[in-house]
Amino acid sequence: MNDSGHETVHTEEVFAGLTALQQALSGHMEWLGRWYMAILKRIREGTALSDAEGECCPFHRFAASGREGVFGGFGELAAHHAEVHAKAAEISARAIAGKTITGSDHESLMTLVLAFTASAQSVEREAWRVLATVDPLTGVGNRQTMMARLVAERDRSIRQRQPCCLALADIDHFKKVNDTYGHTQGDRVLRAVAGCVQGIVRPYDSVFRYGGEEFLICLPGADLATGKQILERIRASIAQVALVDDGGRTIRVTATFGLTTTGADLSVEEAVEQADNALYDGKRGGRNQVVVFGA
Ligand code: GH3
Ligand code: MG
Ligand code: MG
Repeated sequence: MNDSGHETVHTEEVFAGLTALQQALSGHMEWLGRWYMAILKRIREGTALSDAEGECCPFHRFAASGREGVFGGFGELAAHHAEVHAKAAEISARAIAGKTITGSDHESLMTLVLAFTASAQSVEREAWRVLATVDPLTGVGNRQTMMARLVAERDRSIRQRQPCCLALADIDHFKKVNDTYGHTQGDRVLRAVAGCVQGIVRPYDSVFRYGGEEFLICLPGADLATGKQILERIRASIAQVALVDDGGRTIRVTATFGLTTTGADLSVEEAVEQADNALYDGKRGGRNQVVVFGA
């Protein structure tokens, strides 16, 4: 997490983590099935419980792999998992001691298994939400989910009689960056610029990749003066980026910003258009600047 409280999301790690989690979950269910069969056999035939030892569950390995760190609610899931195993161990011990396994033993185990399953589903849902809403290259919001969020922010600002700034940022002469240093370096620049924006905006602000080298920034609660200050800081931060390519060349970029406010008298689309017009003025006016619509 950076100073602004914005988590840098790496979608490929989330995806890899999700795949591993799903394998661990099915491994756990297989273990549970094997354990249950062993218990039933023990009850019916008095056989040994060697198969029922808890170590075989691959979820334990996953929980200690480091991959689990990409999931928000993993601690709760791991706790549910431990509870299932503790209960199973308790039942195993009763069976080994020749004690009766009661209906209530089965019931309480089932309740824990269901809680574990529900918790796993919620962790998976959150991972899918991240994958569906985050731009893989830059880690900021993707364009697919942007409009719904902007409409919600605009409506809230009207309800709460608070201002809300909306801005478009466009990297200057980015085509030249690609042409000079190559597409891979261009991608690095995009990530660095997104990092500058994420590092300066406040936790309740939102940032989206609007197009190739364009970002949309929404600043709820900020009036134009505050919005301009924030964007000036972002602009200065981008201008300080100095990436070095494989040949030792230093890559520097700047960006131009168009800023406006949302309001009851205009739609989100119209506000974005205003920001775009201001951005266009900034490009014509020499780039590397913040232009306020209508100023
Ligand atoms: P201006 O200062 O007027 O904005 O000029 P510009 O060169 O930045 O603008 P233009 O729109 O001509 O070029 C944008 C470039 O962004 C062209 C495109 O190849 C590049 N681009 C778009 N998406 C990506 C991407 O994901 N990675 C890389 N490396 N380049 C991209
Ligand atoms: Mg552009
Ligand atoms: Mg550009």
